[in-house]
Amino acid sequence: MAKPTTSRLESINIKDVSAGNKANGFVKYSYWLNAKFVGHLVHLEQTECNYGGVRYWFTCPNCHRRVGVLYLSSGQCACRKCFNLAYKSERETNQDRLYRKAGKIRDRLGWRPGIVHPDGDKPKGMHWKTFRRIKFKHDVIANRICGATMEWINKRKAIYAHIKAGNPWV
Ligand SMILES: [Zn+2]
Repeated sequence: MAKPTTSRLESINIKDVSAGNKANGFVKYSYWLNAKFVGHLVHLEQTECNYGGVRYWFTCPNCHRRVGVLYLSSGQCACRKCFNLAYKSERETNQDRLYRKAGKIRDRLGWRPGIVHPDGDKPKGMHWKTFRRIKFKHDVIANRICGATMEWINKRKAIYAHIKAGNPWV
């Protein structure tokens, strides 16, 4: 299977981060997604250059690696490697498969079934790193399901408005 192209994701480049944010050591991104307000706090790191000066990096909020570019998609902010891992198995799949996958993850975490329910805690004995990786995958899937549902509702709304306005059934 071909790797997803990152161009369809919104990306942020360390080069575009202002000097003020660099001085603060973090940068904040917030926006609306599926009627939900999403905010990301991204930490910045710096390394010394060989010839003097410093170079700035993002710390990927998911894997904590040092990266120059971060991607925003499905309400998540992470590096390309993280998104490739999350998308690899659930790309080009239908809603049922997404629901099943989300259910499987929730089951593994011991969370209440169904993405409409709030997320649970980290299971006892599971490493934080493992938990974060699994939760990230869950959130990407859950947000894709929400996005598709909102699209469906909006389409319905448009059809009802069309009929209500005296237009024929479509
Ligand atoms: Zn990452």
